[in-house]
Amino acid sequence: MAVEIEIFGDEIICPIDFNNKIRNILGICCLFLPLKLKDNFAKNLLDRRCLNPNYKKWHPYFENCPKKHICKESWHNSNNCEIHNQDIRSSRASNSLKTISKDWIKFFIEQNKINQTIKFNMLFIELDKMDISKFGTSKIHENIYNRFFRTTIHYGVKSFFNNSKILVKNVYHDKGSMEKHKYFPYLNLHKLSDEIQRQIQFENKEIIFVDSDHKKYSSSKDINLYKASNIIQFVDLLLGLTSQCLFYLSDDPLKKEHASLIYPLVDRLIKKPRNYNSSWYYVNKQNISFFPKSKGEDFKAKFFDLDGNLIIDDLTKEFHKNKKLEMPFYGSKQQSLLQFF
Ligand SMILES: [Zn+2]
Repeated sequence: MAVEIEIFGDEIICPIDFNNKIRNILGICCLFLPLKLKDNFAKNLLDRRCLNPNYKKWHPYFENCPKKHICKESWHNSNNCEIHNQDIRSSRASNSLKTISKDWIKFFIEQNKINQTIKFNMLFIELDKMDISKFGTSKIHENIYNRFFRTTIHYGVKSFFNNSKILVKNVYHDKGSMEKHKYFPYLNLHKLSDEIQRQIQFENKEIIFVDSDHKKYSSSKDINLYKASNIIQFVDLLLGLTSQCLFYLSDDPLKKEHASLIYPLVDRLIKKPRNYNSSWYYVNKQNISFFPKSKGEDFKAKFFDLDGNLIIDDLTKEFHKNKKLEMPFYGSKQQSLLQFF
């Protein structure tokens, strides 16, 4: 029997950091959720939207809020906000956004600690090292994205599921530039499926684009997209905060505080990716890597353009984890000791 899974993908583009230093990083994150765990994962995210400490249960509409007698419409609506990494800033984040996003990350980390690790693969592509200006059209980003999105999925299914046969029911992706790409929505999974058909099958080869505003899917017939949208918001948060730890993109105290929640995990995934004894249970479940290893002139020789697509020859030896976390840990000394030991 094949393991049935669903995949949730998002991207981040970081042209510059807060010092206006050019970074040109493209990050891709895919979450791999076994179908039998998906509803429970979505429920955990949703119930954390209810900020009543004694009663964490969520309903999209205030009228149906299980704690309507002690809830208030304005509170309920404010907790129904989109969880978006970009809005995690001291100056603009609402109390709801601050609290819910923090609870989401804490829940995610707790899953690691009890060996119920949520599987993800993250890849950061340092575009400057690839000297892509030489390839000069606006489609470059999309073509690179196509290629590496497939790589990110392929690595995940190959490494995270013990060689089991995999049936990918659906692949969801945040709505964005890729939805309009002529190739990404319809052909990318077909191509991947041809490349690796021995181990994985795709039931639906069309990528499902989900709006990250879950309120658009509040009617009961859209319940699956409602859940997917919340999961996509989580992927955005995970990718955004990990990027913050790695590249120190923002100096905002709230961003640093939130990123520090995930800092110990990011640190381990990079420094000790094969530590089977870790109490964080991440080996063969979570992965962060970087691309490429070599730089500029050497590297570009490996590209060639075919029918508008960039093909990169022999990718594997260009992935690496040789990276220091650029953001210093943010929090009290005691906190950092607690987190690290
Ligand atoms: Zn309520």
